[in-house]
Amino acid sequence: MNQDNFRKITPYVPGIQPGFSDMIKLNTNENPYPPSPMVGEASKNFDAGSLRLYPSVDVGPLRDALAEYHGYDRECMFIGVGSDDVLATVFQACFNSGRPVLFPEITYSFYEVWARLYNINTCKIPLKEDFTIDADAYIGVDNGGIVIANPNAPTSVAMAKSEIERIIKNNTDNVVVIDEAYVDFGGESVIDLVKSYDNLIVVRTFSKSRSLAGARIGYCVANPALISVIEAVRNSINSYTDNRPAIELGVASVKDEDYFRATIKKVVATRERLADELKKLGFRVLPSSANFVFAQPPAGISAVEVYEELAKKHIYVRHFNIKGIDNYLRITVGTDEQIDTMLSEVGRLLNK
Ligand SMILES: *Cc1c(COP(=O)(O)O)cnc(C)c1O
Repeated sequence: MNQDNFRKITPYVPGIQPGFSDMIKLNTNENPYPPSPMVGEASKNFDAGSLRLYPSVDVGPLRDALAEYHGYDRECMFIGVGSDDVLATVFQACFNSGRPVLFPEITYSFYEVWARLYNINTCKIPLKEDFTIDADAYIGVDNGGIVIANPNAPTSVAMAKSEIERIIKNNTDNVVVIDEAYVDFGGESVIDLVKSYDNLIVVRTFSKSRSLAGARIGYCVANPALISVIEAVRNSINSYTDNRPAIELGVASVKDEDYFRATIKKVVATRERLADELKKLGFRVLPSSANFVFAQPPAGISAVEVYEELAKKHIYVRHFNIKGIDNYLRITVGTDEQIDTMLSEVGRLLNK
């Protein structure tokens, strides 16, 4: 067959999903704890008969629950099938000027994939030596939009709210997207700034802090004019996105604030212990505000070797073959038991 009509694109590659029952999976930043028991209840009580009908066209019940949770009107909320769906729609809807969209050179690699898919020009801005994002590099630069993950991935490093605000207020002609996938684990959110800046879009997900990666729920908050633009693009592709069970489970999750806070607290406590133990083993560990750490092994063993040796034991962490970070590992915070098993395996590799 003639292949000229086919789109040739290099897709995003997510962390592997091996099927071993004994595996310790620390490679895709999933939450090691289950979602709220109220989500379990909602799942048990779900009426399968209702699947006969299409779901709410604007994800209504979940949209309302999130609007109330964040103290915004429902017109400020857009809900999608995971935040990847929200981000892809935002890229398509908001970055059409032809001018380059700016994002950090080391960040969530999906940004680059969507830019290529939608023929968006980009300009990648290097991180500073210490892996922080340099706000000044995003100011006074001709651009068609800006995307920043805060905390950044895969570095885990957070940016101060005041620095992000400086970027937003010096780029009022263009949309600034702040991807807060990990913000619940310690970053400073800029959600309240949506009230002051009509060029700001804040993106969130249920996949990490709400333990609902499998339900595929993401959303963004922005002023109603921007939300209408995003909705028009979404409604030009697929009118019904989040399905009925996801909507009900999502609403149940939002209602259980106590469980949400308690789970985050456990993950953060384990993260601090993980970072300390890795440092004792000689790793360089970047200051993490996320549910993972980014760490460089001590001299004498490479990140690839650690990755491969751990995989032999069915312990999976993430390694990126990307210049500048190819001797680092991204390790998701698991349960204390999982982290102890991983640490003792690493200790054995280092003969410690
Ligand atoms: C995990 C992640 C997402 C996407 O998560 P979804 O599961 O699609 O909601 C988006 N941005 C960053 C930086 C992430 O790490």
